[in-house]
Amino acid sequence: MSQTLKAVRGTRDLLPPETELWNRIEATARSVFARYHFGEIRTPIFEDTGLFARGVGAETDIVSKEMYTWEDRARAQSEKPQSLTLRPENTAGVVRAYIEHKLGESGQLQKLYYIGPQFRRERPQKGRYRQFFQIGAEVIGPQSSGSESPLRDAEVLEMLATLLDELGITGWTLQINSVGSSADRERYNAALREALIPVKEKMCADCQRRAELNPLRVLDCKVPEDQPIIETLPKIVDSLDQESKDHFAAVITALDAAGVPYTRNHRLVRGLDYYTRTTFEFTHGGLGAQNALLGGGRYDGLSENIGGPKAPGIGFAMGLDRLVLTLQAQEADQKSASPQGIDGYIAPMGNAKDAEKLAAINAAGLALARELRRAGLRIELGEGSFRLKKSFEAADKCARRIVILGEDELASGILTVKDFSTSVQTKVPRAELAEFLRN
Ligand code: ATP
Ligand code: MG
Repeated sequence: MSQTLKAVRGTRDLLPPETELWNRIEATARSVFARYHFGEIRTPIFEDTGLFARGVGAETDIVSKEMYTWEDRARAQSEKPQSLTLRPENTAGVVRAYIEHKLGESGQLQKLYYIGPQFRRERPQKGRYRQFFQIGAEVIGPQSSGSESPLRDAEVLEMLATLLDELGITGWTLQINSVGSSADRERYNAALREALIPVKEKMCADCQRRAELNPLRVLDCKVPEDQPIIETLPKIVDSLDQESKDHFAAVITALDAAGVPYTRNHRLVRGLDYYTRTTFEFTHGGLGAQNALLGGGRYDGLSENIGGPKAPGIGFAMGLDRLVLTLQAQEADQKSASPQGIDGYIAPMGNAKDAEKLAAINAAGLALARELRRAGLRIELGEGSFRLKKSFEAADKCARRIVILGEDELASGILTVKDFSTSVQTKVPRAELAEFLRN
């Protein structure tokens, strides 16, 4: 026997009924985005590797060790093979499309959202997969469109609070910080490097390396022994220039006015290189180690980094897999996870020994199912060779009611319907059946 093939490590199949929850989350997100005047963008799943090197940052964990990259065969001898990469995130692709389609030339603020798979070679664990799904959005435009305004930051955060509330996620926390302009960050990195000199030998190997290359990343360290040392390091707010300070203060004022709760976290620096000024994360206690539901921030220099015009922007990406985990845990808590069920199960009742009659009753079943489904009802169609008991068992697993379609019912046009919740049996004329099942 040949070896059984399985889904690749870190990827998984999503099956019903779980996919219903996925669809519900996506539909809620689409509805919220529409109310905030966002339009959907769909970019390719693979891009030129250079996009991510420049758009996400060659030094980041994502680009340096997590990407699925391959060399595409050249079609002609004269062609150079192109290095391609499965997208590890979607912001770089959206900004590439913004540049490629000259979306900034309209002078309008562009508000775009996406829903789709992303790929990172990480160690798979709960809430962390190699193919995972993100719902994200970007607000981007030329400076004249107001894209740099702190109001945009606050509006995105307020929208996210609304979205999580509408999804029914309780107990989320918004953590917010400012990482300043790139000049602010240079100043801060210098201050950190200085402050790390006397303490870094006591820190973990990763931190010792970060202290040289990218001191900011020391703030991300999760090693418990390092935490007291990190607490003594300078804070980034003290390195912000007046403009960055004003921007952050304006975001906070607008959040207060809108009544969106938040916590300031001066260590929140995020894993992507392109962020400037506002950075944020929404976390949830129920997720364990992978506690970030979503992350995002402002990226005023990203478009220029990948060869485009100046186009300040702000965006976020939320982990759909983690939203599902959170909602599943909540629903298990509330014990309300009972499947909704379908409207009716049609049970054609034939004589298994008479192939011709069986075929006729099954055909009549399909015709009836078609009629009801076209009337908007959710219908399962059984099999005429089943015994009555087997039909009832199958129906009880998925439907509120069973509709019996035997030879008598077919001849008279009056069907027998049994309601599982009340055990009441009713005779219903075929013309009234759709209406009956709807109620
Ligand atoms: P984390 O700290 O959890 O690795 P990150 O900073 O790498 O997150 P982003 O790149 O900002 O995350 O992605 C935004 C969101 O996408 C995360 O908050 C998370 O919900 C989700 N996410 C990121 N990586 C994965 C993954 N490998 N599997 C599932 N969800 C993920
Ligand atoms: Mg990560």
